[in-house]
Amino acid sequence: MISRIDMRGSLPADLRDVLPRAELDVEAALEKVRPICEDVRHRGAAAVRELTARFDGVEIATTRVPAEAIAGALAGLDPKVRAALEESIRRTRLVHRDQRRTEVTTQVVPGGTVTERWVPVDRVGLYVPGGRAVYPSSVVMNVVPAQEAGVPSLAVTSPAQREFGGLPHPSILAACALLGVDEVYSAGGAQAVAMFAYGTEECPPATMVTGPGNIWVAAAKRLLKGRIGIDSEAGPTEIAILADATADPVHVAADLISQAEHDVIAAAVLVTDSEELAEGVEKELPAQVAATRHSERIAEALRGRQSAIVLVDDLEAGLKVVDAYAAEHLEIQTADAAAVAARVRNAGAVFVGPYAPVSLGDYLAGSNHVLPTGGCACHSGGLSVQTFLRGIHVVDYTREALAEAAAHVSVLADAEDLPAHGAAIRARFDWQVPS
Ligand code: NAD
Repeated sequence: MISRIDMRGSLPADLRDVLPRAELDVEAALEKVRPICEDVRHRGAAAVRELTARFDGVEIATTRVPAEAIAGALAGLDPKVRAALEESIRRTRLVHRDQRRTEVTTQVVPGGTVTERWVPVDRVGLYVPGGRAVYPSSVVMNVVPAQEAGVPSLAVTSPAQREFGGLPHPSILAACALLGVDEVYSAGGAQAVAMFAYGTEECPPATMVTGPGNIWVAAAKRLLKGRIGIDSEAGPTEIAILADATADPVHVAADLISQAEHDVIAAAVLVTDSEELAEGVEKELPAQVAATRHSERIAEALRGRQSAIVLVDDLEAGLKVVDAYAAEHLEIQTADAAAVAARVRNAGAVFVGPYAPVSLGDYLAGSNHVLPTGGCACHSGGLSVQTFLRGIHVVDYTREALAEAAAHVSVLADAEDLPAHGAAIRARFDWQVPS
C-alpha cells in the first residue's frame, strides 16, 4: 500500500532529488489561468459568475453573499460544531494575539532615531477552499491572524456550492458569522483570486490574498503576485513523521492516513531507523484504511509517488532527511521527542511526541494550519499575524545628527558614483560637508 525507500548505508548526496513529492505543475496551470484572470480583469463580476457556472456548475445572480444567508447559516449550525468552532477560535486567537508586534525605536546617535512601525495591510481577501472538501477550520486560520494584525477590511471567498443554491457551504458561512465577518463571496479557483486582485463591481479590490487552495488557486496567486500580495502557494498537504522503535505503529499509521484523507495527491512520509516499526506500520495501514470512510482516496494517496516509508540508519540521518524534505507538518515520535524536535530546522509546524498529532493542529492546538508545502518550509513559515503586517522604518534626524553623518554619506555616494546624493546633504549645510 505504501512504497519503501531504503537509505541505510549512506544518504544520497542530494536528498531533495530522491525524496518523494507530488508532481504539481503550477507553471503549466499558469497558461490556463491567464485567460481566466484577464476575463475577470476586463468583465468583472459577470466573468466571475460565468466562470462559476462553468467550473462549479451553478448559476449565481451575485457573487456577494447576502447578510441573511450568513445569519441563517449560523442559526442552522449544529450546536456541537458551533461549540467546537468557538473553542478553536478562542485557542487560535490566544496564540495569534501573542504574535502582535510592538513599535521599536532605536536611538542610533543623539538626535537620530529609527522607529520600526508595524502597519497592517489595508484590505485582505481570504480564500477558503471548497472543492473536494469543505474547511470551516480554514476560515478560522485565515481570519484570526488578519483580525489580530488589525487589518481594517477583510473579505472571505469560497466556491459556490450547487447543492446550496450557489452559496458557499453553510459551515463556512457560519464560521464567518462566529468571527464577525460579514463580507463573503461565492467564488472559487483562479477567478476568486483575480476578483480580489482587480476588484469587480461587486467586490472592491484587496491589497493581499491569502489562504490555501488547489493548483488553479496556486497558479493564479503566482500569476497575480505583485499586483496583489500573497502569502504562499499552500498546495497539497503533507505529513512527515520521524519515528524510532518507541513509536506505536497504530498511531503512526493513523496519522499518515489522516493526512492522506485530504487529497489523492496528499503526501504521507514516515522516516524511521526501525525496521520493526516500518513493518508494523505496513501491516497496520491496510486494516485501518479499509475501516475508514474515504478509503479509496486515502489508498490512492498512500500508493502515490509522493508517499513512502524511508528507512535510515539512525535518528541523525533521519533528521537530515526530514530537514531536506521540509514538510508542511512534521511529527516527532521518538524516545526524547522534545530534544529531537528542537534540532529540526525545516518544517511548517512540528508536532512533538505521541499526544500532539497533526489533527490537533488542524483544528484546536491554537497553531495555524495554513502552512508552506512542497518544500517551501525551508524558506517560509505558515500564516501568522506577521503575514498581514508591514514593517515601516521611520527615520527622524536633527540637523546636528545629520551633520555628524554627512561626511560618510558623501564619501559613500561618491564611491557609488552618485554625486547628487552627496549634494542633497551639502545643500542643507550651505554646500559644505560639515567637518
Ligand atoms: P479549491 O477551493 O482550492 O478549488 C476549487 C475551485 O477550483 C472551484 O471553485 C473551481 O472554480 C476551480 N476549478 C476546478 N476545476 C478547474 C479547472 N479545470 N480549471 C480551472 N479552475 C478549476 O478546493 P479543492 O479543489 O478541494 O482544493 C483544496 C486544496 O487545498 C487541497 O489540495 C487541500 O489539500 C489544500 N489545503 C491546504 C491547506 C494548507 O494549509 N496547506 C489547508 C486546507 C486545504
